[in-house]
Amino acid sequence: PEDIAHPVAVGIEVAGNGPAIPLTPGLADTFFEHDGQITKQAVRSLTLCALAPQPGERLWDIGAGSGSIAIEWLLAHPDNQAIGFEQRSERAARARRNAQNLGVDWLEINEGHAPEVLENAPLPDAVFIGGGLSQALLDLLWQRLPRGTRVVANAVTLESEALLAHWQQQAGGELLRLELAHAAPMGTRRGWKASYPIVQWRGVR
Ligand code: SAH
Repeated sequence: PEDIAHPVAVGIEVAGNGPAIPLTPGLADTFFEHDGQITKQAVRSLTLCALAPQPGERLWDIGAGSGSIAIEWLLAHPDNQAIGFEQRSERAARARRNAQNLGVDWLEINEGHAPEVLENAPLPDAVFIGGGLSQALLDLLWQRLPRGTRVVANAVTLESEALLAHWQQQAGGELLRLELAHAAPMGTRRGWKASYPIVQWRGVR
């Protein structure tokens, strides 16, 4: 509709009432402006479930990209807080725009490289690692985070997957492999187009 200023964040049509934002996490990717680097809807919904936001809690979203994880964390409750860390300035700016467009303009984005960029941030209740995963980052988090902090990390490369497999032996928690495919045209018929498998580690400090 022409009364929506932004071309992407429009929401779903609710019979006769115009666009609306659904209550559950896992918004369609079209809610967010992005450059392809976004945690896709299905994986994002599982990630938010694992992060398990409670009213008033603070999230660190490391490698924030479009900001979609932090934004859905904030949408879960108006008292929630989130700090995104993103090394690329155009993505940091995009994450701020997405937060504005979706009504959670109190999202804070710190531009810089993890783990150094985390240094002065107020401690979180939960941490998501969507980019910048390294042994140094995990070690630093384990040093600094209070016991009970929830941590979720998504890996897509073999290298980061190996890191998480090793990390689980040390830190416990759960490893999950998410393999999704969607039906897509294949010549005149259809076939399953597979996404890269995502390995997700969920643990508690
Ligand atoms: N969860 C995001 C997508 C993350 S893509 C979303 O839904 O939009 C991974 C992001 O991590 C990229 O934007 C990349 O620039 C960022 N990144 C990678 N290594 C980083 C590091 N060491 N410090 C900060 N950001 C990093």
